[in-house]
Amino acid sequence: MPPKKTQSDADRLNKIVADAQRNREAREQDYRAQALKLYPWICGRCRREFTRENVQELTVHHRDHNHDNNPANGSNWELLCLYCHDNEHARYLDQVAPGAAAPAGNAGPVSTHNPFADLKSLLKSKD
Ligand SMILES: [Zn+2]
Ligand SMILES: [Zn+2]
Repeated sequence: MPPKKTQSDADRLNKIVADAQRNREAREQDYRAQALKLYPWICGRCRREFTRENVQELTVHHRDHNHDNNPANGSNWELLCLYCHDNEHARYLDQVAPGAAAPAGNAGPVSTHNPFADLKSLLKSKD
């Protein structure tokens, strides 16, 4: 295979990935702006209050952990500070640990796409 073709294939793939990432970032900016309009700038866990100066540390958490579920009324969003958001996801990882039995009758169908699955195995492989 001539190197030229491989290069252009790689370029095309890079562009697709870059586009997808841009779309995702644009969408995240979008629901973040909406959530910040809907809710007071207070962390839902530690109750820390935020101002324009530090609001970038206030993040939008998805209650059902599905980032594609963004109802306009904000029912799936929760504003959390960076630290509490990390904690929240660490707890979620514990719940979905491989080998753990999934609780029966859990809330709705669970997406098979789990962006944190790799992270979990990475963390585990450190032991
Ligand atoms: Zn917090
Ligand atoms: Zn979250």
